[in-house]
Formats: sequence, structure tokens, C-alpha cells
Amino acid sequence: MKVSFIDFGAENSGTIFLFYSEQEGLLLDQKSKNDIAIQKIFEKHIKLSGSSKYKPQALDTFTSSNNDYDRIIFFKIRDLLKKDENGWINIGGQVLQYLQNNRITEVSIRLETTIKNIELMTLPARIAFGMGLKSYSFDKYKTSKAIKGVNHVKFITHHYVTTQNIYKEYNSTLNSVNLARDLVNEPSNILTPFEFVSRIKNLSTPNLKIKILDQKKMSQLAMEALLAVSHGSRLDPYVAIMEYLPIKDQKPLLLLGKGVTFDSGGISIKPSGGMDEMKGDMAGAATVVGLMKALEEKKPNLNVIGIVGLVENMTDGNAMRPGDIIKSMSGKTIEVLNTDAEGRLVLADLATYSLKNYQPRAIIDLATLTGAILVALGQEMAGLFANDDNLAEQLLKSGKETGEHLWRMPIGEKYMEMIKSKVADIRNVGGRYAGAITAAEFIHAFVEDVPWAHIDIAGTSITSPKTDTNNSWASGFGVRLLCNYIDDLSKN
Ligand SMILES: [Zn+2]
Repeated sequence: MKVSFIDFGAENSGTIFLFYSEQEGLLLDQKSKNDIAIQKIFEKHIKLSGSSKYKPQALDTFTSSNNDYDRIIFFKIRDLLKKDENGWINIGGQVLQYLQNNRITEVSIRLETTIKNIELMTLPARIAFGMGLKSYSFDKYKTSKAIKGVNHVKFITHHYVTTQNIYKEYNSTLNSVNLARDLVNEPSNILTPFEFVSRIKNLSTPNLKIKILDQKKMSQLAMEALLAVSHGSRLDPYVAIMEYLPIKDQKPLLLLGKGVTFDSGGISIKPSGGMDEMKGDMAGAATVVGLMKALEEKKPNLNVIGIVGLVENMTDGNAMRPGDIIKSMSGKTIEVLNTDAEGRLVLADLATYSLKNYQPRAIIDLATLTGAILVALGQEMAGLFANDDNLAEQLLKSGKETGEHLWRMPIGEKYMEMIKSKVADIRNVGGRYAGAITAAEFIHAFVEDVPWAHIDIAGTSITSPKTDTNNSWASGFGVRLLCNYIDDLSKN
């Protein structure tokens, strides 16, 4: 979908989109002859469209030959004056859905008003961003494309130069969300750990340095917890490190992502129903990769390092067994009671690697870690676990601002006791209860005293419901959240 921002007068034909609110009327401040005619058409429509209870969201009309436009769509905005940034982004998604439903491929959108508090410079960019998020679809493997999407959207605005610049920021977030969605939507036979690594390498620039650890290097580093997960797979595991370090001598923020490219459960094999969804068990890694790409483009003043563990969890004669005891990179021994609780093994070694090689100001990990978080929070919110209130507060705030909501869950010593092992230092599952919390406590055991947050995105990143801004199985959850968080952090 092409997006352009153009001046008044540059385009006066075709299909035009205008907004209205029931309280404030039509959002129009121009006074040309044509505009006065549009105002009259609008008033007629409102009169004829019945009581507000039954009014459709859009009043869609073809005009007579003496109007410059061929078709006018009046689109209702509820609670106009209460809309925040995310509210306008959602409006963009609704507009896109309307255009798609009505097979409209090209449109001009006018957003103008004399109402104060309506920021005419930022709003078109927000609407365009919402349209972009909603227009994403993953159809590369379809030989015939079913849906004809919107080709071109033109925003007609007095502030077209400023708006264009504001949109650039949103556009790089959009591309990063879509990169994360692409990675998660890919099937596991295509997106192997090796293929994942080569896509990460493509992002390399002088500002974003990429380092890769292969199996040999990981063995030298004694990353046995991560390596144990890969034993049952024919595919080699990798760790990819993405360094964005614009500032000298500043402790970096570390972002860790679980990248299990397929999770069969291993010897503790999953039931076959829904197992296909486990191609998305690398969504945490995809979010981190998407985010690092955004940082490279936005260039915030903050040192950030993203590390992802890419591995396939399969079952064969070499696979790790329930009951095995493995020694993690930290030296702590782990009793593996369930080989399907493998993501935490990957993250444990990534955390240790982070502590040994960098001095993180904080660690945030993202993972499709537990089904238990779905039981607790459904698909509306991701679970947030943290050992630092300040970090948790900032992330919760960012969730509210972006609509990628988090809910803080408890951690604590009593939960840590649930994963004590009789034969090793720690065990990888805690039993039937509090599964999302004991999973978090497992990672907690490896981050030591560094401020840390764990975001369980098992419910929010895959098998996603359709929303105003998402039509995709993989939502790309977390990219906007962390872009916003890092933006705040870099300004304070
Ligand atoms: Zn698993």
C-alpha cells in the first residue's frame, strides 16, 4: 500500500474520505464551492440515515456530475475529542477494513477541522500507520491472491511536509512490526535456525553489528542448557547477537528472545491437535529482531543489545529425556522434568551470556513461554513478571500507550521453592499450579540481581484474533510496546 501526503488542490477527483462526529459534525474547514456542496450532501445524508442507533459507521455516496469527486465517504468517529494516539491508529485500521470490504483500491483522505485540540499534523500519520498495520497479510505461498488490497492512499493536508516527516517514524515501526509478523508466520520447514540467522544477517549495518554463535562456539562457552534443547533436531542451533551501541560507555539494555523455530515438545511430546501452531514458538525472537531493525532506523540515544536463541525442539534418539540433569552455562544444574519446558532453558543461557559479556542496565526477555499465561490472561494481555517495580511500571505504561497491554503477575520466594529439585539445583517445571509464574521464576534464577522483566507473549503473539490493527495470525506483539518504551527511556 502506497501512502502519500499532498497539498490541497493537488487532487480533486476520485473517491474522497471525510470524517465526522455526531457532536461536532463534518470535519471540514475549507469553504470552496465544492466543499459547500459536500457539506449539503452530508447534511442530507445525516437527515435520511435514521436515528443514531441505526446509523452505519460510513455514509457512502456517489455524487452528481457537477461535483469534483466521484464518490464521497463520510466516516463516523465516536468520542472524537477523547481519542488518544492509539485511538487514531485504530481509526486507521477501521478505515482500511472499510475500503477493503468495499473493494476500493485508491482513495484520498481529507482530515481538516477548525476544532482546537485536534492535531492536524500528526493525525494523518497515525491514521496511515493504522491502515498499514491492518493491511498486512501473509500470502506469499498463495499462487493466486484472494484479496485485492488498497493500492494507494493520499492524505490531502495543508501540513503535508510535516506530516510526511512524522509518518517516517511510524513507517519504520510499521516495517518492523511486519518483519516480526513475517518471521512468525513462516512455516518451520522454511524458517529454520539457519534461515533465521541469515535473515538477521541481512539487517547488518555499521549501526547494527551482528554476531553469530554457532554450535561449536556454544559448546566452548558451555551453553549446555540451550544446546540440550537442540539434541533431538537435525538442525544446528544458533545464537544471534545484535548490537546497537550509539553511546560510548553506557550500560546497555539487553533484550532476549526465545526462538524455538518448531516445538514438538521433544520426548514429552505435545498432543497433535494444534501442534502446527508451534511454528510460532519463536515469536519472542522475532519481536527482538523487529525491534532492533526499528532502532537502527530511528536511532535513539540508548545502547541496546538484542540476543536470540534459535533452536528446534524435536524428538529422536539423541533428544534430551525427562529426568536428565544438565549443567547450564552459569554452572547451575537443571533437572529436566518435562522436555516441553524448553524455552526457559534457552533463556537461562542467554541470560548468563548477557551477564558475562555485558553489564546490562536491565534485561527484558520475550517468549511464548507457557500455555498457563493463556489460562490466566487470555489473548488480551501479555503477562509481565519483574524483579524491579520501576521497570515494570514503565513497561505497563508503554503497554497502555500502544494498546499492547501487559498485566503484572506475581513472583516470589514461595514460587521459587516450587522449582527446587531433589537432585539438582533447580528443575524446569513446578507442577500443575502457577505454571506461568514458576516459568518466570526459572529465568529469574539466572538473571541474578539485574533489573529484569519477563514478558510471556504466548497468548498475544500467535493465533491472534482480528483487531482494528491486525488481520494476521502473527500479530507482531511487542514491537510497538518496546519501541515506545525505548523512545521514552532514550529521552530521559
Ligand atoms: Zn515447549
